[in-house]
Amino acid sequence: GMGSEQLPKQQRLENTVCVVTGAARGIGNGIARRLALEGAVTVVLIDMNQDDLDEAASQLEQEVTEMMGDKGTSRPTFYGLACDVTNSEKVKDTMTYIAKALSTNGRIDVLVQAAGVVGKTNVLTHEVEEENFDFVMDVNVKGIFNGCKAVLPYMLEQNYGRIVNIASIAGKEGNAGMLAYSTSKAAVIGLTKTVGKEYALNGITCNAIAPAVIRTQMVADMPEKQVKYMTEKIPMKRCGTVEEIGALVAYVASEEAAFTTGFCFDATGGRSVY
Ligand code: NAD
Repeated sequence: GMGSEQLPKQQRLENTVCVVTGAARGIGNGIARRLALEGAVTVVLIDMNQDDLDEAASQLEQEVTEMMGDKGTSRPTFYGLACDVTNSEKVKDTMTYIAKALSTNGRIDVLVQAAGVVGKTNVLTHEVEEENFDFVMDVNVKGIFNGCKAVLPYMLEQNYGRIVNIASIAGKEGNAGMLAYSTSKAAVIGLTKTVGKEYALNGITCNAIAPAVIRTQMVADMPEKQVKYMTEKIPMKRCGTVEEIGALVAYVASEEAAFTTGFCFDATGGRSVY
């Protein structure tokens, strides 16, 4: 849980400018903290609501300052920018603002896309409402496309970039009762593989992470029957933590993870499909 994190032994993101969507809470928030602890100089939090972002930014700043103590050289700066990832114009303007106003030399080194929704679950496919399907696809798929499209010009300019998209094991195996969500996460993996190939010669990697159950608000809001179904599939017989996802993202977002792109890493306590 929050605050139980150890100071990482490495500083793999020293001096980087990192952007994390869905960072007001949950997995995105845990990722933002880890990137900061790994030495990022600027961490931009993107989410829907400015008040939530302001609170998250000051909370992270406090936690990270406490954890780093007198270790390390500089403290990261957190910025919270409200932006609905489904709004392509807004996403583009937000990336431009980050490059022009919050970053030195217009750099955006890392984009982690954790903004996502699960929609209604524990519903069979013949009962899924079209509206729910469109909503989940819009945020989880188009949102990630919008982020890639907006950040890639900056990454191409600097001939370097790390894009990490949060998919789900549901996208690989399919979760019964979660048609829209599973479909959207499979699409994220397909998108990630494509982007990885297209920019393979440009110093830009694009990878995905497929977590199993992490006890965030998203999961707390789901019917207990659905959560039980997902949890029982995990060989380690426990849920993952946001810290465990943050640790994997820190590696994938680092400079040293240079020879892996278009790949989807599982963080699932052993639940996997080839
Ligand atoms: P969460 O609901 O706690 O956090 C998601 C955040 O995304 C929220 O702060 C929300 O406001 C934000 N968001 C939603 N729609 C947005 C939009 N249109 N624009 C900007 N921000 C938006 O969920 P979480 O569990 O932290 O999930 C984070 C990611 O991890 C999601 O993509 C989710 O699908 C994925 N994931 C979660 C689990 C899990 O068990 N929690 C498992 C696998 C994958």
